[in-house]
Amino acid sequence: MRSYKAKMVTPIRLPSREERSRNLERAGYNVFNLDAAAVYVDLLTDSGTGTMSDAQWAALVRGDEAYAGSESFHRLREAVRDVMGFEHVVPTHQGRGAENVLYGALLGEGDVAGGSSGRERPVVLNNTHFDTTRAHVANQGAEAVDCPVEGAWDRTVEGDFLGNFSVERAREVVDEVGAERVPVVVLTVTNNSAAGQPVSMANIRETAAFADEIDATFVVDACRFAENAHFIRERETGFADRSLAAVAREQLSYADALTMSGKKDGLVNIGGFAAVRDPDLLERTKQRAILYEGFPTYGGMAGRDLDALAVGLREAVDPPYVAERVEQVATLGELLSEAGIPIVTPTGGHAVYVDAGDLLPQVPPGAFPGQRLVCELYREGGVRGVELGSFAFPGADRPEYVRLALPRRTYWREHLEHVAETAATVREQREAYTGLEIVSEPPMKELRHFTAELRPR
Ligand SMILES: *Cc1c(COP(=O)(O)O)cnc(C)c1O
Repeated sequence: MRSYKAKMVTPIRLPSREERSRNLERAGYNVFNLDAAAVYVDLLTDSGTGTMSDAQWAALVRGDEAYAGSESFHRLREAVRDVMGFEHVVPTHQGRGAENVLYGALLGEGDVAGGSSGRERPVVLNNTHFDTTRAHVANQGAEAVDCPVEGAWDRTVEGDFLGNFSVERAREVVDEVGAERVPVVVLTVTNNSAAGQPVSMANIRETAAFADEIDATFVVDACRFAENAHFIRERETGFADRSLAAVAREQLSYADALTMSGKKDGLVNIGGFAAVRDPDLLERTKQRAILYEGFPTYGGMAGRDLDALAVGLREAVDPPYVAERVEQVATLGELLSEAGIPIVTPTGGHAVYVDAGDLLPQVPPGAFPGQRLVCELYREGGVRGVELGSFAFPGADRPEYVRLALPRRTYWREHLEHVAETAATVREQREAYTGLEIVSEPPMKELRHFTAELRPR
C-alpha cells in the first residue's frame, strides 16, 4: 500500500535505441556525461533526486531570508532537536560541507581549528568512509581507516547488520598506532559504501563505548538515519514495539556530533548540517562555517531550503514512508534476481548492488565490467546506474559492483519492472560484451569516473 499519491508529474521519454547508442558514443561511454533528458529511469543516485511533499513545497513559501537568526533557522533547529536529539546545529550547503566544517574543527591545524600542529598524523576510524568523508579526513592531514565487519564486501555472506563497525578491527589499529593518535571514531548509518547495509543498535552502543574508552569524539554520519532505524525495528530483538522516531533518536543519542546530508533522509534536493553537543566544539564549527559555508544560521542554504529540510526530517521518520521506501528497494532486488541478475542480498536501504564481475566474467577488472554493464543498461533501456568498482575506485580491492539507487518517492513499480526487463535483455547478450578502455581521464584518478571517456576494446 502507498501512503501518498502524485499531484505533480514530470514527463519522461525513452529515446529510440539508435539515439541511445549515439548518446552513449557521444558521452564517451560515461553516463555522467549524458543529458538527464535522454535518460528514462535515472538510478544514478538517491542524493537530492527525490520528490518533496506538498507540505515541503508549502514550507518553501514560508522561508525567512534574513541573513542572521531567521525564523527558518529556528524551525530547522527545532526539527533537529525533536527528530535527532541535538541542540546545536550548523547548516551547510550539503553533507560534504558539514564534513569540511566538523572535521576541520576536530582535526585541523588552522587558527579556527583545535590547533594541534606538530603532532603525528591522526587516524580516523569508520565502519566505511564514504568517498567525501575519506577526502575530508585526508584533507585535514589525517588517515582514514575502514573497520567493516567480516563479510561486508562478500556478496555470498548474508547477515542482518553487515554495515556494522568492527570494534575488534578498530582495537588492532589502536594497539598499533596508540589511542592518542585516534581522536575521532565515525559510524556511517546505513553503511553506504558497503552496499547500504544497516548498523545495529547494539553495534552503535558498542562503538560509542569504544570511542569513549579511547577518549575519541564519536561522530555519526547520519545521512540515512531513518532507513537504518527501520532496519533496527525490523531485525533487532527488542525494537519492534518501539516507535520509529524513538529508535531513530536513540541511535543518535550516543553520538557527540553528527554530519548530515539533507539530500538523503532529509528528503530535500539540497542542504545539510553538522550537529554537536559540546559548546566549545560548536564555536569552532561555527567559525569554520563562516569561513567556508556562510553565516552559521544559514550556512549556504536559502531560508526556504532550511524550511523544506525541517519538514523533510520529520517526514523521514514517518513509519509508512520508510517502510515503503525500503520495501521498494527490496522489490527492485527481487525483480532483478528473478531475471537472473546477481545482486547483493539482503538489499540495503537505498539501492540494489549488481555484481558485474559475476555477470560478465569474460571482462577482467582492468577492462571495467561494471562500466560496460552500466553502458548497456542505458543502451538497452535508457536506465542509468553507476559503476562502483575498479573504474570508480582505481587500485582499491573492491568487487565490481554497479549501484542502482532509488530516488525517494519518485518511481513506481512499472519503472522497476522496466529496469528488470532491461537487465534481462543485457543478460541475454552478456557473452557478446567486451571490456572498455580509457581514452582520456582527469589528473586526479580518484575523480575519474565523473568525467573520463572510454571506448570498447
Ligand atoms: C551523500 C553522503 C555524504 C555527502 O553528502 P553530500 O550531500 O553528497 O555532500 C556523506 N556521507 C554519506 C554516507 C553519504 O551518503
